[in-house]
Amino acid sequence: MASVSARLAQVKPSATIAVKQEADKLRDQGVDVIDFGPGEPDFDTPDNVKRAAHRAIDENLSHYLPTLGLPALRQAIAAHYRELYGADYGPSEVIVSCGGKNALFDAAMALFGPGDEVIIPAPYWVSFPEQVRLAGATPVLQPTTEQDGFIARASDAAALVTRATKAIVLCSPSNPTGAVIPQEELTAFGDLVMEKDLFLIFDECYEKFLYDGRRHASPAREFRRLRDRLVLVSTLSKTYAMTGYRVGYAVSARPLIAAMEVVQSHDCTHPTAVAQAAAVEAMAGPQNAAVQMIEEYLVRRDLMVAGLAGIPGVTCARPAGAFYAFPGVTGLYDRLRVKDSIGVATMLLKEARIATVPGEAFGAPGYLRFSYALSADRIREGLERFRSLVAR
Ligand code: PMP
Repeated sequence: MASVSARLAQVKPSATIAVKQEADKLRDQGVDVIDFGPGEPDFDTPDNVKRAAHRAIDENLSHYLPTLGLPALRQAIAAHYRELYGADYGPSEVIVSCGGKNALFDAAMALFGPGDEVIIPAPYWVSFPEQVRLAGATPVLQPTTEQDGFIARASDAAALVTRATKAIVLCSPSNPTGAVIPQEELTAFGDLVMEKDLFLIFDECYEKFLYDGRRHASPAREFRRLRDRLVLVSTLSKTYAMTGYRVGYAVSARPLIAAMEVVQSHDCTHPTAVAQAAAVEAMAGPQNAAVQMIEEYLVRRDLMVAGLAGIPGVTCARPAGAFYAFPGVTGLYDRLRVKDSIGVATMLLKEARIATVPGEAFGAPGYLRFSYALSADRIREGLERFRSLVAR
């Protein structure tokens, strides 16, 4: 019998997308589900960005672009790295992709193959291990702990390095935990990749989502020493509430970008031209809408964390960045008569009509991910439903 490729046998579909579909199904049946599942801003795309997309259509920006992306967008991205991190990348060291996910996939296909090991701290973003598997390589998970704020430590990664290790994939601020890796720790990761001749892939899709006066720590700040080994990945999806536009990017030394360009030239070619024109306005235009959104996320974070930590049996640290809370729920197992966090998430969906993503999806059983990218009123209502389920 003809069947799908052996490669796919190793790969799980995205659990976060599965939760969204499950919640959507209930909603279609008329059930009022409070959806803490999606990693997706509830805000509308800023008006200036929408207008730029309209203009691009009217001006017939409807032909193929260079695979690397619209030159004006690559210039805006290079300027972003220069101004924020002092990293002097040129426009040919930038590739624009269909979201950060596509940029990460390009990197995995360009750099990894059978026999390679790739170190990924857990809890991890769902697609990291699966992309490594799709490239034929092996993910090696590096545990982090709630006690240490889920911060990935270079010394723990060093203990996992073998002759087969090809790269380390870091994400900060982290999806799913909101943990932020301090700049000193990134320096230690930099030392490790230099010493062991590895690549460092750094996902900074939440680079603008930092709270309590923190500034974003990025290996981009050490680009002079790390440039040949560093791939920086980010997106417009979160910062500018543009998830459906599908625009993200990677920045790296020219040989690595050239390799990713080959991959992308045989895959999507480039994101939609109109979306890229909108992205130029998002990055180079006024930033006030983005700043306002971050202020609102801060209010929501505090509401979310206080509410979760007040539920008996739940532990919840205050995340330093991104827009997720990652509470521990093992203290609920007896009370809810379940045996794992999938059980808790299932109870929450069925009995309290709130959608969350179980930690199993991120390599961290015992936790649930709550996105707080929804309105304060919906967060309050969802927390109330959670509280009354536990009290019952
Ligand atoms: N990296 C991380 C850590 C993310 O959370 C996401 C979105 N959930 C992405 C990459 C990809 O986002 P997009 O493809 O929309 O840019």
